[in-house]
Amino acid sequence: MRQAEARGAVAGTGTEGSGHAVVIGGGFGGMAAALRLRARGYPVTLLERGKRLGGRAQVYTDGEFRFDAGPTVITAPYLFDELFALFGKSRRDYVEFLEVAPWYRIRFYDGTHLDYGPTQEATEESIRQLSPDDIPGYRRFLAHSQRLFEIGFEKLGPQPFHDPRTLLATAPDLVRLEGYRSVYSLTAKYMRDERLRQAFSLQPLLVGGSPRGTTCVYALIHALEHRWGVVFAKGGTGALVDALWRLLEEEGVRVRTQATVERIDTVDGRACGVTTADGTRIPAEKVVTNADPAFVYRTMLPGVTRKRWTDRKLQRMRYAMGLFVMYFGTNRRYDELAHHTIAMGPDYVGELKNIFRTGQITEIPSLYLHRPSATDPDMAPEGKDAFYVLAAVPNLQAGIDWDTAGPALRETILQRLESTLMPDIRQHLATDFHITPQNFQHAYLAEHGSAFTIQPTFTQSAWFRFHNRSEEVRGLYFVGAGTHPGAGVPGVITSAKVLENVLDAEGDAVAA
Ligand SMILES: Cc1cc2nc3c(=O)[nH]c(=O)nc-3n(C[C@H](O)[C@H](O)[C@H](O)COP(=O)(O)OP(=O)(O)OC[C@H]3O[C@@H](n4cnc5c(N)ncnc54)[C@H](O)[C@@H]3O)c2cc1C
Repeated sequence: MRQAEARGAVAGTGTEGSGHAVVIGGGFGGMAAALRLRARGYPVTLLERGKRLGGRAQVYTDGEFRFDAGPTVITAPYLFDELFALFGKSRRDYVEFLEVAPWYRIRFYDGTHLDYGPTQEATEESIRQLSPDDIPGYRRFLAHSQRLFEIGFEKLGPQPFHDPRTLLATAPDLVRLEGYRSVYSLTAKYMRDERLRQAFSLQPLLVGGSPRGTTCVYALIHALEHRWGVVFAKGGTGALVDALWRLLEEEGVRVRTQATVERIDTVDGRACGVTTADGTRIPAEKVVTNADPAFVYRTMLPGVTRKRWTDRKLQRMRYAMGLFVMYFGTNRRYDELAHHTIAMGPDYVGELKNIFRTGQITEIPSLYLHRPSATDPDMAPEGKDAFYVLAAVPNLQAGIDWDTAGPALRETILQRLESTLMPDIRQHLATDFHITPQNFQHAYLAEHGSAFTIQPTFTQSAWFRFHNRSEEVRGLYFVGAGTHPGAGVPGVITSAKVLENVLDAEGDAVAA
């Protein structure tokens, strides 16, 4: 039959051990890694502590309303196609991608707005309404972003970074492309209008960093969006998770949900399996973890003396922000609202300072509003609408008491929506509930309840980030947001390609 048998034991038979691979965590990174290992011929077991796969891409239901809990902006859709193609299959037979237009609507505090995408012409037309003199600067910014994309995404994205020489080799490119600047500083170099600077520097927030503290390499996201557009999975991101889950099962990956790995077992400095919370030991030749790397190093390797990722180093790292997300259904449709709207608050700089430095909730926060029925009408019940709205907030290191802050922020958000995008929201609110950084800590074992693991600062990227191959334990590998290349759906799926490159470099042969 398939390649798996060429490696010996078959997953699910209880005969795992030599040749067997275990993946801890079923986020997009974990699912992609399990598929890639399977395609290399490994019998694979995927262990996920939640009830469903998908990690932060959960689906919540509340009565007749259904909500995608996490990622909604899907970029670089070819990365999904590649996973199906590993097995000679077509993603189109499993899930459909719909084009989103505009990609985002950014509404500024003065009431004006920018429609970004779905083409350069459309974006420029919208810029023209705000600041026509900035169009040449915008074009130069886009060209710069494209050069960053070629280096940061195409060249370095899939490349392992555990060898400092890789970083040194890229240094000249990074200096030439002004990688020492922040994303905000890059937009300020090219555009004069403060609204445009804000709109085009938001990208780091999508991966957990401050636009003012994140290297402008992340401005490559702009070029990425131009290259493949922004899409939405028909049926929601949950449908995309289901498609991958089906593929995993069809290809013989043994998926176990509600299975929390408590410990990674080691012998003589080498991973030899995992032990779950119910005491089950699962031997393995390779252990790949999609769990938060800081949590893994801090708690899941008892008895291993860590040389690099010591508790002290983990404490000193800068963790990404948290998110407050309110899911709500309305008993009317809001067809005037775009699929993705960002409503900027009045004080961008102050808000970033509150989130990343002083650890406070902003009085009038910026909001991201998700209305999937703008692209896929089936995402809401007939005549109704299903939304989520989120605000970036400090992570749990700020010590905020979310039992009181949560309901207060809900009220602030309702007032903001009333005064901006949805004046009649209270009249039509059918249901709502919210999650805070505490939920991220409980559900996904996220260090400090961070929504995106560690911040993508220069000193926490590439070689400085958690390596895809552990330097503490042989046979242990990392995929997902905390490792290279970083958070966001394209990043975590790419991390599984990095894993393959690491295995290739180790001489791990693909079974014939
Ligand atoms: C609200 C929100 C909106 C977002 N929007 C976007 C967006 O629009 N576009 C985009 O590209 N990105 C977005 N992101 C970021 C993106 O969702 C994440 O970076 C990405 O999904 C993380 O994937 P991951 O593979 O690292 O795993 P995760 O999704 O973090 O999954 C890790 C899994 O490991 C499991 N796990 C942890 N510890 C254990 C253990 N010990 N045993 C077993 N299982 C364990 C967890 O339960 C979890 O399921 C968003 C994130 C959030 C929170």
